[in-house]
Amino acid sequence: MDNFAGGTAVPETEPDAAEPEVSSKPLPVAELHLHIEGTLQPELIFALAERNGITLPYSGLDELRARYEFTDLQSFLDLYYANMAVLQTEQDFADMTRAYLERAAAAGVRHAEIMMDPQAHTSRGIPLETCVNGVASVLATSQEEFGISTLLIAAFLRDLSEESALEVFDGLMAMNAPIAAVGLDSAEVGNPPSKFERLYAKAREAGLRLTAHAGEEGPPSYIVEALDILGVERIDHGIRCMEDPDLVERLVDARIPLTVCPLSNVRLRAVDTLADHPLPAMLAAGLNVSVNSDDPAYFGGYVDDNFSQLDAVFELSDFDKARLAANSIHSSFASEERKSELLAELNGLEAPQ
Ligand SMILES: [Zn+2]
Repeated sequence: MDNFAGGTAVPETEPDAAEPEVSSKPLPVAELHLHIEGTLQPELIFALAERNGITLPYSGLDELRARYEFTDLQSFLDLYYANMAVLQTEQDFADMTRAYLERAAAAGVRHAEIMMDPQAHTSRGIPLETCVNGVASVLATSQEEFGISTLLIAAFLRDLSEESALEVFDGLMAMNAPIAAVGLDSAEVGNPPSKFERLYAKAREAGLRLTAHAGEEGPPSYIVEALDILGVERIDHGIRCMEDPDLVERLVDARIPLTVCPLSNVRLRAVDTLADHPLPAMLAAGLNVSVNSDDPAYFGGYVDDNFSQLDAVFELSDFDKARLAANSIHSSFASEERKSELLAELNGLEAPQ
């Protein structure tokens, strides 16, 4: 990474700008922790509501935006699920996905592993095929259209039963859904990974990759459970590992990827301010961390915003920025060929053309 010294500048964007402008080229990264439903921008919520004849409980954009002050994970989830009511047709899911990819391309994302929550849609009467096909139809041509290779992760809601997850999983298998991995998200505390042992065993048997949210609001023991009981390859969030030195050592030794989402952690009060975020300590400990946007429409920014705000607070070195970008690529479920391409793009940024 020596060729990064004095390298490309991460673009400066105004914190909390509604529509940040990307003025210079950001680092090529893989986004590994992104919920497609969390990319639903207020403008699109209103547009889809109008198209589908749905009356929203907000008088306008300002009133909706005012609700984006969250006190914890649950207060966010309440709004997040309520807004999903506007997603009715395949076209709605496709439009949402297209809007994310367009914005992500400007943020430097070259590979994206996109989670969707099928249960959040089937539970309100939307057929599995509608949500899966709507998202997948756009992902199928994402590399040609946006320069972003993609894969789809079916994420399961941990506050629902394992039976519900298994039912939806079987539905995904029956329709031959183009999913590459399974994940576990939603309200963490009180819903430990061990609750989903059978689901993950089935997913592994089906040849799928495995990831799970753990150690965001939940304790470090949930990270241990995700590794030992679910057999995950990657941990989403994982920031509370820092409370357990033995676990940190294990994660470092095994190079377990942690998909960290700094702006999300601030908005959901996992940390008080960005200056209190453990990311620099995690890097210093040798943990395999990457920077991701989680639910960017709700948390104040996309991957480039996360990088620029981290940089504003911590003055990240070029080496660390490049390391974070390289970690994201290495930690992805992309093919070795695609990883090599992306690493070459990252390493070659300063090479004369
Ligand atoms: Zn998440």
